[in-house]
Amino acid sequence: MNRTDMWRRMDAHPKAWDVIVVGGGATGVGVAIDAASRGYDVLLVEQSDFGKGTSSRSTKLAHGGVRYLEQGNIGLVMEALKERGLLLQNAPHIVHDLAFVVPNYDWWEAPFYGLGLKLYQLLAGKYGFGASRILSREETLKHLPTLKTEGLRGGAVYYDGQFDDARLLIHMVATASEQGATLLNYVEVTGLTKDAQGFVDGISARDAETGNEFRATAKVVVNATGAFSDRLRLKAEPGAEPMIVPSQGIHLVFDASFLQGESAVMVPHTSDGRVLFAIPWHGHTLVGTTDTSVASATLEPVAMEQEIEFILATAGQYLTKAPARDDVLSVFAGIRPLARETGAISRVPSTASLSRDHIIHIDRSGLVTVCGGKWTTYRHMAEDCVDQAATLAQLPDRPCVTHHLHIHGFQEAAKEEAAKEFGSLAVYGSDAHEIRKLIEADPGLAEPLHAALPYIKAEAIWAARHEMARTVEDTLARRTRALFLNARAALAMAPAVANLMASELGWDEVTRTKHLDAFRSVASNYLLQS
Ligand SMILES: Cc1cc2nc3c(=O)[nH]c(=O)nc-3n(C[C@H](O)[C@H](O)[C@H](O)COP(=O)(O)OP(=O)(O)OC[C@H]3O[C@@H](n4cnc5c(N)ncnc54)[C@H](O)[C@@H]3O)c2cc1C
Repeated sequence: MNRTDMWRRMDAHPKAWDVIVVGGGATGVGVAIDAASRGYDVLLVEQSDFGKGTSSRSTKLAHGGVRYLEQGNIGLVMEALKERGLLLQNAPHIVHDLAFVVPNYDWWEAPFYGLGLKLYQLLAGKYGFGASRILSREETLKHLPTLKTEGLRGGAVYYDGQFDDARLLIHMVATASEQGATLLNYVEVTGLTKDAQGFVDGISARDAETGNEFRATAKVVVNATGAFSDRLRLKAEPGAEPMIVPSQGIHLVFDASFLQGESAVMVPHTSDGRVLFAIPWHGHTLVGTTDTSVASATLEPVAMEQEIEFILATAGQYLTKAPARDDVLSVFAGIRPLARETGAISRVPSTASLSRDHIIHIDRSGLVTVCGGKWTTYRHMAEDCVDQAATLAQLPDRPCVTHHLHIHGFQEAAKEEAAKEFGSLAVYGSDAHEIRKLIEADPGLAEPLHAALPYIKAEAIWAARHEMARTVEDTLARRTRALFLNARAALAMAPAVANLMASELGWDEVTRTKHLDAFRSVASNYLLQS
């Protein structure tokens, strides 16, 4: 997978594509996999890097959503639990199960949450992850040794999925490519073209690397631009009624000492009624998330002071070592592309419950927008979207085949076994063998990039050579997760990564410095000033 080859595929394709997908997050790449694996001819363009938007900034849970259960949205929970199971089946190298403990401080909490979580487990049916049960005080502390003991009565444990969102996305891009799709990062759609009847029949786009502008035509264009969906819709139909209600969520990252053990904490009702998670992730502790409505979406959202204070204060209520500002290794924000229906011609997925989750909307111009939903349900969203897009574009009927389609790197070994064999490279699945070969050819590539993080030089080479990393940020934020885990360490690694990428991609000194400066500027958003 490299960008030069992708451009070659583009140039060798003079006719109209069956489907052009705009947006390279979980939703867009999911649509590209679905459409390409049905045998349609697919082009996907992403204005920045794959996953630069919300899809690298999630809580990283493959889950049914315990909170929807509380809202009585059983259909939605069942559907998401099924998708969680399929995700584990198709990408076991990246997705694994994780124990979540709901600590109980009031007498009524154990029976209340115990019963609810049992139902959550039952709804998963054959896609179940593990039996939920009520825990004694001692058992709760065995799961969570750093939980505050004052007033603690016990807890309830249940199981959900956890994954590395950007890593899964890169493997999905590889999957789409293997299925025959052409995918380009750093190509922005600047306009939509229309036929004589006023129907969208293609895109005008700009390659951010060369500045070259080009057009491409398609039988159907899918808008999978997440929180930016309305902006593209307005290009097709000035005056289109907005569908997106953007809402920001942030996470703080601490070292592993704040949450010892292998389990996560789930607080179903914080002081202001939100859900808060503290989760072990890549040897660190991830705490989030907030839900703050924002006026509009930006590609690099910044955490607000009140969000940071809320997470610090709430985590301090539950953890023996109350985290302080100085303990924050990284802070990152993401925008939820919450969607609401508009009055225009629109179709929703088959079940009423899901229609509240993701929306597939067809504007009068024929532009198909797929938005809302969540990471966990990307496959189902893609299936619905391609079903409708294919009907609209009169493409030959072909069934969806993604239920059992393995994601690139598929390797069945359990997390522990894979970690024993490959250490931190296990997350690459079968690609870990290839990274090992790079090291065999040049043992210097086994050198760590920073003492605080597990990443090695070979990963920067691999990212540039085989995973379409084009900037220092791509490598440090989304091919490795250095920026999300420890922003200061990522800044310290940046010059070495820039040198490795420069030799791999043929950057001159001006380009190397430009990428390094750009990374430093972005990384400042992930640092918390005391
Ligand atoms: C804080 C937070 C926590 C979350 N946690 C979870 C979780 O634990 N589990 C879960 O299942 N879900 C979770 N979600 C939801 C999930 O992350 C999102 O639903 C999902 O990532 C949305 O993906 P997307 O592809 O629709 O949007 P995005 O990932 O934002 O992708 C849209 C892409 O479109 C591109 N784009 C925009 N305009 C153009 C243009 N003109 N030309 C080309 N490209 C363009 C953007 O650059 C962007 O990369 C969370 C969301 C948030 C905000």
